[in-house]
Amino acid sequence: MAQEGSTGDKAQHKPSRVTLTTLSLVLAVIAMLLTVCTVALKYSLPSRIGISEYGRYLWADRLSLPAFLIPIAAIILGIAARHKISIILAGFSFLLFFIGAPGFVGHAFNPQNACFNNLRKIDAAKNQVASEDGLTNGASISIERLSNCMERGYDVKGGLGTLSCPEDGKYTINVVGIEPRCSVHGSMSEMEAGWQKEMQKRNKDSAPTNSIHKIKSPLASSP
Ligand SMILES: [Zn+2]
Repeated sequence: MAQEGSTGDKAQHKPSRVTLTTLSLVLAVIAMLLTVCTVALKYSLPSRIGISEYGRYLWADRLSLPAFLIPIAAIILGIAARHKISIILAGFSFLLFFIGAPGFVGHAFNPQNACFNNLRKIDAAKNQVASEDGLTNGASISIERLSNCMERGYDVKGGLGTLSCPEDGKYTINVVGIEPRCSVHGSMSEMEAGWQKEMQKRNKDSAPTNSIHKIKSPLASSP
């Protein structure tokens, strides 16, 4: 009788562990899929967002937060369920996210990257407004109109006002056809030109002994 009672207890315990395992595994798989989608979207986008890429760009931005949070939840559940596969899978997707989504991580370490990303959003929203309102080069766009477009696109209240340069630069929208710019970091073209110079300098410094050096990622730190 007593034995029956204890097996009954075990049977009651088992389903909760099974539920945890299933949940952690499902979350880990979702995390992996989300991360792959986010990274693929980010890589498929050029540094300048044209009108045809606007939708994809918004999705890459929207997916970033769940792609960051779901693996954490999957790891916690995986640890609770002591299910190694979920932990490994979620850990791997977390790692992939940090390696593959530099725009997201860059905010914390590189103020210029964060500022470039803000200018990218302003530029993308400008293109969108220009296409919606049929504006041509030289036409000006009001801050309200731009903010309104950003609020719709990015689900962010406050629109333009919520974008701030990490080094206290002020943003100038500029007319259609002329890039927006930051008073500290300049325009996107200027930043890109600076990065290109830096890369050329690095390539020169690390004597071109073999071709592998030439295709080195600009994000890799110099030895
Ligand atoms: Zn700036």
